[in-house]
Amino acid sequence: MPRAFITGITGQDGQHLAEFLHGRGYDVYGMVKGQNNPKATKLQEEMPFVELVPGDLADLPSLVAALQYAQPDEVYNLGAISFVALSFSQAELTANITGLGVLRMLEAIRMVGGGENNPIRFYQASSSEMFGKVRETPQTELTPFHPRSPYGCAKVFGHDIVVNYRESYGMHASSGILFNHEGPRRGMEFVTRKVTNAAARIKLGLQHELVMGTLDAKRDWGYAGDYVKAMWLMLQQDEPGDYVIATGQTHSIEDLVERAFAEVEIENWRDYVRQDPKFYRPAEVDLLIGDPSKAKEKLGWEREVDFPELIKMMVDHDLKREARRANIEL
Ligand code: NAP
Repeated sequence: MPRAFITGITGQDGQHLAEFLHGRGYDVYGMVKGQNNPKATKLQEEMPFVELVPGDLADLPSLVAALQYAQPDEVYNLGAISFVALSFSQAELTANITGLGVLRMLEAIRMVGGGENNPIRFYQASSSEMFGKVRETPQTELTPFHPRSPYGCAKVFGHDIVVNYRESYGMHASSGILFNHEGPRRGMEFVTRKVTNAAARIKLGLQHELVMGTLDAKRDWGYAGDYVKAMWLMLQQDEPGDYVIATGQTHSIEDLVERAFAEVEIENWRDYVRQDPKFYRPAEVDLLIGDPSKAKEKLGWEREVDFPELIKMMVDHDLKREARRANIEL
């Protein structure tokens, strides 16, 4: 059985990827940080097939020990401080985990036997936030980076060091430049989930207002379940590489709000939404739209879930969850 090692296993993508790889017959090892991590306990209940291994991206010896234990064929580095807003207030932490953490993971792979003949294949979770103040539209693998947040800057370092280790040491190391991807497992702090959850709660009478930052920013939103397949496909190629994973369509945050409220049959959504400058970012990314042509051509990858289906899936999930919690019959 092939063996996969996933950092960020308790996050949205880690859970989708663990399910996907388990379905393909992999032994799945997931790295968890901290002592008595509550998300790890929940994950173990939902996915008993995942073997949890302790480790932290801030701590190289723990990464080496985790790899020595798991003996993986494939390593997926999904762990990160991943919330752009938090990266402004905790920039140093973000640089350390989201940026230097990639370097530590690559070094750990080299230490347990990385190099020309190293069979371990590596996936790095790069991000469309690296494009930031975009130099061209749509963005491709060749579009120059201009990050607009400490998160974006840390991801650029992670991306570049993967390219460097690939070129320097012949490692099978690939980066997926993933555009925003969402789903019912998305953390509540992220804008899509904040909106779908608020629409559900307002419909149920559990909440009366949704406080937002900008409504103008545009993003290329896809479904996380589709995107983890692309990660795996990258590691099945003979040669490593970088791939943009996106839908090729963009929507404003206003579109997102309107659609989420429409799903719960609220047309006058503006009556419930208030904007507060405290949610504005010091520097905003105005427009992201990816060109996934290379992924389609070389990996045979295409998104299956479109934007309306995605928002419907999230709103339906949140409606059921909130109703269950509040003992409301739908
Ligand atoms: P997520 O839900 O925020 O999960 C982040 C994961 O990183 C969590 O499991 C977290 O563990 C872990 N982590 C945080 N600090 C760590 C540390 N010091 N050592 C080890 N693990 C640590 O993120 P996601 O949405 O699944 O995204 C997965 C990856 O893709 C991230 O690298 C993200 O930046 C990147 N990405 C995401 C998107 C997107 O739209 N979702 C787009 C492009 C790139 P705890 O739960 O224990 O805190």
